[in-house]
Amino acid sequence: MEMSPNCQDSLQTPSVFSMAVRQLEIVADLIGLDDGVRRILSSCEKEFTVNFPVTMDDGTVKSFSAYRVHHNTTLGPAKGGLRFHPNVHLDETKALAMWMTWKCAIANIPYGGGKGGVTCEPNKLSSIELERLTRRLASEMSPIMGHNMDIPAPDVNTNEQIMSWIMDTVSSQIGRTSPSVVTGKPVAIGGTVGRKEATGKGVSIITKETLKNHKIPLKDCRIAIQGFGSVGYWSAKFLNDMGCKIIAVSNIHGAIFNNNGLDINSLGNHQLSNPNLATFPGVDTISNKELLSLHCDVLIPAALERQITAQNADQINARILVEAANGPTTPESDIILQEKGIHVIPDVVANSGGVIVSYFEWVQDLEHIFWDLEEVNSRLTTLIINSLSKVRNTAERYKTTLRTGALALAVERIAHGLALRGIFP
Ligand code: NAD
Repeated sequence: MEMSPNCQDSLQTPSVFSMAVRQLEIVADLIGLDDGVRRILSSCEKEFTVNFPVTMDDGTVKSFSAYRVHHNTTLGPAKGGLRFHPNVHLDETKALAMWMTWKCAIANIPYGGGKGGVTCEPNKLSSIELERLTRRLASEMSPIMGHNMDIPAPDVNTNEQIMSWIMDTVSSQIGRTSPSVVTGKPVAIGGTVGRKEATGKGVSIITKETLKNHKIPLKDCRIAIQGFGSVGYWSAKFLNDMGCKIIAVSNIHGAIFNNNGLDINSLGNHQLSNPNLATFPGVDTISNKELLSLHCDVLIPAALERQITAQNADQINARILVEAANGPTTPESDIILQEKGIHVIPDVVANSGGVIVSYFEWVQDLEHIFWDLEEVNSRLTTLIINSLSKVRNTAERYKTTLRTGALALAVERIAHGLALRGIFP
């Protein structure tokens, strides 16, 4: 039998899940975690794999593999994004689900960690094919998804439209409209104002707070951003609006640089019709590798996991690294960054604005009462700043890094919940 490219990939590269477990082990040793709890948290509660057919526009049938994982649901139903990407595999989905468990516990919202994905190349599918794939996926996932069981949201290559199709498919199957089965929906059908931009908004709030601590004025701050998709664009936009200079951004096609700062609003519009950033006027093109090594105040990885590794960490020249992507830094590179004195704001705090506002959306759907943007943003600001401050306090208590402090806070909260709930039977 021929091995799928995705399967070969997972055998050749180190496992992402083992990286996530390694991070947990560091914390477990530090806080003297009970062995039983350590065993529970080192594995995922549910790992669901489905292979399903989709009819293509030319009449041929293709088979797709999809995964949905619940890492731990001690504190509430599973919550996490849904990713469409050729490199999606079970191992990656498990790691992303574990990080979601920590993220929700740190934000102190009543969710466990979940994640899902489909191994596919969405840009090679027509809109109709994408809709058929999404609807079939929603149907296949019904045993594990639901408004009080597991609530998906957008992630890499998924968006409001995909969430709408999932909501409609589930609603059709259960015979009533159920907006709370997904978050990140359009506002017109039960979404919340502020969700689309929430992850980037959170990144900007966390970055501003960190710059204040480092006594770097916003107007003097130079920022480079890897990835100019949903999270990268909104992070750039809000930080630019605050007065920072976004000197470089990249996407899968390449990177651009302007020492005086890029015009983010025009660049965002330009990218809608022209994904090749290099065609934007008045910029220098640089390589994606060069972007990561630019001398700047803040580097924001906002693309995919494992972008900063033992091979390139030494070339990072930023003072602060704000992890907008999930898992962009490997444990080996973390040590190098620490030795270089680079201040790292870990993903589980930095990009938690998305899940926090998803939580607001779910609450509003369940209550059938909707808030205005001011209320959403004010609640987001309070929650995320509170999280950062709790993480800092925990890191100080254990005399450790913010990443380990953040995970320690999450693990302590979940261990407390586990102790209260006990083990069935
Ligand atoms: P997206 O698909 O909208 O954007 C991803 C961007 O990264 C695209 O611009 C793509 O071209 C670029 N990219 C991919 N590989 C790259 C590379 N090697 N070098 C440079 N650019 C590259 O996805 P997104 O929703 O913005 O998610 C980005 C990251 O943020 C992911 O790690 C995701 O898990 C995480 N995240 C997303 C959300 C959310 O609300 N969407 C919330 C929390 C975390």
